[in-house]
Amino acid sequence: MARLIDGKAIAAQRREALAARVKGLAFRPGLRVVLLGDHAASRAYVGAKQKAAVAAGFDSDTIRLPEATPQAALLALIARLNADDAVDGILVQLPLPAHVAAEAVIDAIDPAKDVDGFHPVNAGRLAAGRPALVPCTPLGVMHLLAAAGIALRGADAVVLGRSAIVGRPMASLLIQADATVTVAHSRTRDLAALCRRADILVAAVGRPEMVRGDWLRPGATVIDVGINRVGEKLVGDVAFDEAAAVAGAITPVPGGVGPMTIACLLENTVDAAVGRRMAR
Ligand code: NDP
Repeated sequence: MARLIDGKAIAAQRREALAARVKGLAFRPGLRVVLLGDHAASRAYVGAKQKAAVAAGFDSDTIRLPEATPQAALLALIARLNADDAVDGILVQLPLPAHVAAEAVIDAIDPAKDVDGFHPVNAGRLAAGRPALVPCTPLGVMHLLAAAGIALRGADAVVLGRSAIVGRPMASLLIQADATVTVAHSRTRDLAALCRRADILVAAVGRPEMVRGDWLRPGATVIDVGINRVGEKLVGDVAFDEAAAVAGAITPVPGGVGPMTIACLLENTVDAAVGRRMAR
């Protein structure tokens, strides 16, 4: 039976360490989370981010705007937050309503305050192997692998999914850690055979329990990024019971990658705050 990688406990430790770091700062990191509309999951995520930021000692605020807010008004708000010296981190919760172009919004955020790490400047820096604000979910996965003592140098890693917010940055981070990385997606042939080669499998596809136990190499490390609502239940992209019988280590859903995402958002905000002050 696989060892469980307890993201909830690892995230709690990181948040405690971060709160101590914030206490030692001469300023309070400023975070502004912008939420358009009333998407139920987004409301829950934003609520959790706000609560965690306040608990860590941040000056944090959630700016709630009506669903029909025009794109120009959102861009004007971002320009104000960019210019506001009390604001170190800006996060616009995705997905955005259809009348707003997410890329235009992401591009408008000052890269130095882009604590989600989605701005093309940060994405480009990460892809080039340079220091960057890194998307919180793949960054959280790296911390989970480190905390679980998983060796990455020379390991075969397969990343299922190539989105800009998870799969692509995940691949860059694993390459930087000296893993040999294959990125798979919806056009990949014979996913099961590919996955069986992996020492480390990161699943980020958004397909409930797609990865089966017989897709895994015995002893592999399985990181399940997926969050899928099936009826009342939350399930990952990996069929947990089957996979846990084959894997060496595995993250649960919930309680694996999810809690790390918020811890990394807080850490990114402190890094952005310190970085901006050093750049002055
Ligand atoms: P996207 O929908 O943006 O990307 C999904 C990726 O999976 C795409 O690259 C797609 O391929 C690929 N894919 C879809 N279906 C298949 C398939 N049948 N076979 C192979 N590849 C497939 O999703 P995200 O990256 O945003 O999120 C992925 C999952 O992670 C979701 O469940 C999401 O809820 C979860 N998530 C969890 C977070 C957390 O904090 N734990 C944070 C962010 C996301 P193609 O490019 O060809 O379309």
